[in-house]
Amino acid sequence: MRTLLRMNPVFQEKIWGGNRLKTVFDYPIPSDKTGECWAISGHPSGDCTLQNPEFAGETVGSLWKKHPELFGNLPGETFPLLIKIIDAKDDLSIQVHPDDAYAGAHENGSLGKTECWYVLDCDPGTTIVIGHNAETKEQMEEMIEKKQWMDLIRQVPIQKGDFFQINPGCLHAIRGGTLILETQQSSDVTYRFYDYDRLSDGKPRPLHIQQSLDVTQIPHKAEAPQQSAWTNGDAKVEQLVSCQYYTVCRMTLDGKAHMDWNQPFVNVSVLSGEGTLDGQKVSKGDHLIITSNYGPMDIEGNLELIYSHI
Ligand code: ZN
Repeated sequence: MRTLLRMNPVFQEKIWGGNRLKTVFDYPIPSDKTGECWAISGHPSGDCTLQNPEFAGETVGSLWKKHPELFGNLPGETFPLLIKIIDAKDDLSIQVHPDDAYAGAHENGSLGKTECWYVLDCDPGTTIVIGHNAETKEQMEEMIEKKQWMDLIRQVPIQKGDFFQINPGCLHAIRGGTLILETQQSSDVTYRFYDYDRLSDGKPRPLHIQQSLDVTQIPHKAEAPQQSAWTNGDAKVEQLVSCQYYTVCRMTLDGKAHMDWNQPFVNVSVLSGEGTLDGQKVSKGDHLIITSNYGPMDIEGNLELIYSHI
């Protein structure tokens, strides 16, 4: 079926969240501590309902089960990807995610988590944390013991438009002042390594030091995804990453382009501008799923899009 599924995002309040999901995207956020917009999600912790009248009352998760043909009859219990916009007013915890094998064995058969970040905006001088400086597990344990967090972590300066792939086992943290579009495996398994000794409702959030040590890659190996770019009509398309779980591309268009989608599904997020997809209006902040083997599509307008597929 040639359908564009239009998402109603789900918002999540976080101790490190802010209000930029409202000031930048005009979303109806619940408070000034809103950290995450789950823009395209079938995850039970935040399953998006749909604007399409023909699917009233359904969610991405329920459609995945009732209408697998919309998603190319892919195997699996859940819609496999999760697209978020993250507004980090304050620092996120320093964390690490397991791979599928470790999560499957230790987290009730859950998927592991590979994720990637496209920096939508950031304050001047903002950094992120990617990797660490320990050469051996013993050295890391010693640095944790002595609370030498700032010596242990690797900080990288960032700018608007930067892109980072975060594989399982890569220690990482988004720092305050960053607005990011995240594409990830649909998983919620996070091992919190250090949380700046912050309190949430009067208590520190739990840490998972042992699991973090189990899964963290030591020493850290830097990852630079292979990128490529091409033109399509008036559009420039850049492939930001292609890994085992997803391919993520950025499209900038001023005019017309003609795509031919032959994927089980494609996630589309409109980062700026307005235009049409096969005559249907889209504008900044819209998130859609293009259903299975959609085929040719005319895209028009002045648009910046991130799209992803498995
Ligand atoms: Zn993470």
